Amino acid sequence: MADKPKIAFYWCAACGGCEESVVDLAEDILMVVGAVEIVFWPVALDFKKKDVEAMPDKSIVASLINGAIRTSEQEEMARLLRKKSQVVIAYGACSQLGGIPSLANQFDRETILKFVYGDAPTVVNSEKTRPLLDSGAAGKRVQLPELHEVVRSLDQVIEVDYSIPGCAPTPKLLKAAVLALLSGKMPPKGTVLAPDVALCEECPRKESKPEKLSFTEFKRPHMAVVAPDKCILAQGFVCMGPATRGGCEALCVQGNMGCSGCFGPTSRVRDQGAKFLSSVMSSVEAKEEKDIDSTLAGIPDPVGTFYRYGLGKSLLRMKARGGTGGA
Ligand code: SF4
Ligand code: SF4
Repeated sequence: MADKPKIAFYWCAACGGCEESVVDLAEDILMVVGAVEIVFWPVALDFKKKDVEAMPDKSIVASLINGAIRTSEQEEMARLLRKKSQVVIAYGACSQLGGIPSLANQFDRETILKFVYGDAPTVVNSEKTRPLLDSGAAGKRVQLPELHEVVRSLDQVIEVDYSIPGCAPTPKLLKAAVLALLSGKMPPKGTVLAPDVALCEECPRKESKPEKLSFTEFKRPHMAVVAPDKCILAQGFVCMGPATRGGCEALCVQGNMGCSGCFGPTSRVRDQGAKFLSSVMSSVEAKEEKDIDSTLAGIPDPVGTFYRYGLGKSLLRMKARGGTGGA
């Protein structure tokens, strides 16, 4: 019997939700497990780094890597899996776009460390002790990964062949990607494995979205009840649907919540947050600065709202860093 294709899963700066989404395949996970050989999956199987190092280069058919790159260890593992894999798939918003961890790019590393190990109100650390990269006691040495200056998406560190978007990706998208891999019918490299249309185009409420939006205020979800049958954005709640790729089955909208943008932009949009700002902010009715401020008061965290998943890839952020996006 021919060898089954070897597959690896790995997580970097991640919450575990992407790993959970693999289990969400439910009975289809049996199809996946039956059709492939999982050679590395630290969250579920006891393979070690040295097992991967011992594999021939390109012997893994595909590595699905979730999470952003924040530490030297994550970068090292991403580079190792790149070397050993024919195909690398950025799995989930953190890997594809930097995701929620990349919101930390609003602050430099020193500011983060100072707060986390000193100034945070819940921290008791009068010596302001911080973890050392290399320390030892009783003849034993402990080495820790280094925290990079910025959080990066996977493709800012290694070459990535495909992305599966979402926070987390849906089981349907994962299953489609695995079936495409097994059949050898993958689209051109660089493809995001989800429909290349804005969510609004496949939203069950799209008929109620007016041609021209008009805003006199923005409401936060706890401030009012969202009507279940009308376009959420037209009701004055932020819904990132116009600037976000579809393919998620509009799960949040079906749950009566605005889209928070986790599928990232379509191929025609370079900066998701900027796209949303330009399309929606031009529909704010107020013309005077103080009235505009009052309208925008309903969005108290604009970066966390418009760049919740995409700050790591934002053009604005790269410009501020001199265009490198690097560590
Ligand atoms: S994309 Fe979402 S579910 Fe996946 S690791 Fe990031 S925060 Fe967690
Ligand atoms: S803005 Fe949101 S609720 Fe309205 S049509 Fe688009 S995705 Fe649907």
